[in-house]
Amino acid sequence: MKVFKFGGASVKDAAGVKNVVNVLQHTGFQDTLIVVSAMGKTTNALEQVVHSFFENKDKFPHDLQMVRENHQRIIGDLFHSESNEITNKVDAFFDGILDFLNANDAEEYSVVYDQVVSVGELVSTTIISDYMQYQGMENHWLDARECIKTDAYFRDANLYWTETEAAVQAAVAGKSTLISQGFIGSAPNGMTTTLGREGSDYSAAIFAYVLEAESVTIWKDVPGVLNGDPRKFSDTVLLHQISYREAIELAFYGASVIHPKTLQPLQRKEIPLYVKSFENPEDPGTAVSKGKSLDPLVPCYIVKNDQTLLKLSSKDFSFIVEENISEIFALLHHFQMRVEMIQNSAISFSICIYNKYNKLAPLLEALKTKFKVQVEEGVSLYTIRHFDKPAINFIKNKVGIILLEQRTLHMAQFVVKEQD
Ligand code: ADP
Ligand code: ASP
Ligand code: MG
Repeated sequence: MKVFKFGGASVKDAAGVKNVVNVLQHTGFQDTLIVVSAMGKTTNALEQVVHSFFENKDKFPHDLQMVRENHQRIIGDLFHSESNEITNKVDAFFDGILDFLNANDAEEYSVVYDQVVSVGELVSTTIISDYMQYQGMENHWLDARECIKTDAYFRDANLYWTETEAAVQAAVAGKSTLISQGFIGSAPNGMTTTLGREGSDYSAAIFAYVLEAESVTIWKDVPGVLNGDPRKFSDTVLLHQISYREAIELAFYGASVIHPKTLQPLQRKEIPLYVKSFENPEDPGTAVSKGKSLDPLVPCYIVKNDQTLLKLSSKDFSFIVEENISEIFALLHHFQMRVEMIQNSAISFSICIYNKYNKLAPLLEALKTKFKVQVEEGVSLYTIRHFDKPAINFIKNKVGIILLEQRTLHMAQFVVKEQD
């Protein structure tokens, strides 16, 4: 079995869906499980529905209707006008969500979030599966909620591997072409869960792992993994081959082309991952597998925006030592801050953090009872892996004011205040 994954950008409209079908005809689609994300920016639009449901009840039916109409337009462009069957199937998902929202006033935010947002993947895969049938491409639509078994940590669910393995194997047995959803699973009580934003790559890796697939291919709007995000750097270079280890590092430091959780299951079973262009499917793309760390060996640039830099010092001129550091980390953990970089000196302790859950104010309040705190919000973290002198100079000339700099053997990092 092979696993393919098509992201939101590849199926953002009817032309995108037709292109995916062309890619599948070109590569072949037998013995293939195809994982698909929600179409285009649907997940963001559904997040807005959830937001309205909690903040502005009168507005959510309208927000949901917008998402429904967008899918209806795509269906209209793909199928001839008499095909009511697909319209009815997609309507049933949207009606289900309306009923759920109208009946569940007291549910927790993250529970509601997962029930609503998962509809993006359910409808995209339904449309694609039916469109393939319509084009004579026999396939089975697989409900990922019957396969991907998770705990009830809504919005960022953790996998139950053993249950998932059994469920996937039973569901896939005897079928050649399957279309399933990325990003979604189900909790022990049967409610839908999601695996965290951008989690469809991870879904593909989960299916591949439990099926011992021969390979995973993720189809992107870029030629493969480049040595920098082409939206942020010009003159990027395509990486032909990357080791799992190197890819894990790149993803961990923020190369958003591959979701960081994707790689470890694949590495464990040595399943190769290909990152290829859905616009030029015949091009080789990038292979992530065992072997050479990086080919070609060039500096790789990663940028994370929206970071916060904290500089802590003691109020009484004492040194920042183990006891203070453990206290600081306990607070960072408590307020769910992601620590991106730390630097310690005798009298100050600097931390670059990502304030994912909007808890900076209470964190600062707690820290200020013990330390002097300087805060710089809206900074960026630049990472160069495999840096050399020209790469360092390139970044220093490109960025604004460097607030903090740190180097290890293979990596240089800069916390930067960008100039407008
Ligand atoms: P999808 O969700 O459709 O699968 P994403 O938008 O998540 O795809 O990922 C593709 C995007 O990742 C590219 O458009 C590119 O801007 C960005 N990206 C970030 N870092 C890199 C990199 N090192 N190489 C290639 N693309 C990158
Ligand atoms: N649709 C989800 C998101 O936009 C999952 C994914 O695309 O990977 O986050
Ligand atoms: Mg994505």
